[in-house]
Amino acid sequence: MTTALTIAPILAAPAPAGTPLDDARAQLTEAAQFLGLSDGLHRLLATPRREVTVSIPLRRDDGSQDLFIGHRVQHNFSRGPAKGGIRYAPNVDLDEVRALAMWMTWKCALLDVPYGGAKGGVRIDPRNYSANELERVTRRFTSEILPVIGPEQDIPAPDIGTDEKTMAWMMDTYSVARGHTVLGVVTGKPIALGGSLGRATSTSRGVVDVALAALASRGLPIASSTTAAVQGFGKVGRGAARFLADAGLTVTAVSDQYGGLVSTGGIDIPALERHVDLTGSVVGFEGADPLDGAELLELDVDLLVPAAVEGVLTAENAPCVQAKVVVEGANGPTTPEADSIMRENDILVVPDILANAGGVVVSYFEWVQANQAYWWTEAEVEARLKERMIGAWEQVSRYAGSKGLTLRTAATALAVERVAEAHTLRGLYP
Ligand code: NAD
Repeated sequence: MTTALTIAPILAAPAPAGTPLDDARAQLTEAAQFLGLSDGLHRLLATPRREVTVSIPLRRDDGSQDLFIGHRVQHNFSRGPAKGGIRYAPNVDLDEVRALAMWMTWKCALLDVPYGGAKGGVRIDPRNYSANELERVTRRFTSEILPVIGPEQDIPAPDIGTDEKTMAWMMDTYSVARGHTVLGVVTGKPIALGGSLGRATSTSRGVVDVALAALASRGLPIASSTTAAVQGFGKVGRGAARFLADAGLTVTAVSDQYGGLVSTGGIDIPALERHVDLTGSVVGFEGADPLDGAELLELDVDLLVPAAVEGVLTAENAPCVQAKVVVEGANGPTTPEADSIMRENDILVVPDILANAGGVVVSYFEWVQANQAYWWTEAEVEARLKERMIGAWEQVSRYAGSKGLTLRTAATALAVERVAEAHTLRGLYP
């Protein structure tokens, strides 16, 4: 076992108000009260099973040294190995990783994939480092958390600031340490290294599968008369914009961290993608007008897809949201206060643990294929993904309708109930 490793179950200390962890715990409390869970079980589910915090020294290309802090939080293993992404961002902190790990547990349970939840992160701005430096950071981080990851323990995947290259380095570092190739240790790998066809677009496809079902449930046609705005033009937002346009909707606005674009007649998404490939941002695209990124959330559109970062829909801007349907591509984009305001305004909010679960579903498919060394076609992957996403949408909307709950509380309650049942069936050791 490597050094610099702290593994400790952390008791559920209060999280500062308004943080993702506070939001995640508030959602759990609502579900626990609805389900009548005991205090002991509620506390167990509010608390990560295992946390690892490591320091990651980096030898920079110029010979100087830098140091980063990384975390891996495993929230729950009751239904199987832990599963969740690795984020590289300058604002990564332990509480945020705890919240994201908890949401992963609910997401896996809701989509009925046999995993618990985890999340990892390194506090680094990847844009300031070369590919060689990022490779060294990734390999050192992997070797520090190596004792707690593995295809039967905890399976990382890409998230903000990481991609299939990061996963290839993680897989290689883990495999070298084990002395043989272990394809199932991470998902979101390049296709040539045991990645799944359809994985790269899976979260966006799942977002759009659910968004189209949600629009139809509100009587909105899947046609050019229905408009959409997408916040974030990364791995999730870009594909979501493309698939919404492919489905026939008019995408009138998009944004990224540098700014936004609006065009009431619709943005030509393939042309915008070419612009982003060349420049790295949506800003400066000539086929639309510039827009302040924050204004995108308040535009008069039918569908709003926040697909960037958490905490963007707040008590301040939620009263100004005009969309009829909000589909959470990002994790935790809506604060509980914003959620109540949108409920009062009869806006249908499809929660993250349902809407963006396509990535973990196809991660599961990738893990199954890697463990069996037998690969499916892209059409098979997409058909199975759609079946799961629509199945979960139908379960959640039926449950919400029959119990008089919002989609978020219904989704969380269904997921928490499954995890609680697994925990209770296994019993408490010793
Ligand atoms: P990414 O890094 O590929 O893209 C993030 C995008 O958001 C970028 O375009 C960035 O410029 C933009 N952005 C950042 N801050 C912004 C702001 N304030 N306003 C507007 N745009 C902003 O990350 P991603 O993988 O697309 O993840 C986006 C969200 O989706 C995260 O919450 C992530 O946890 C969640 N998610 C991702 C996946 C996946 O498969 N990648 C799966 C489930 C959930």
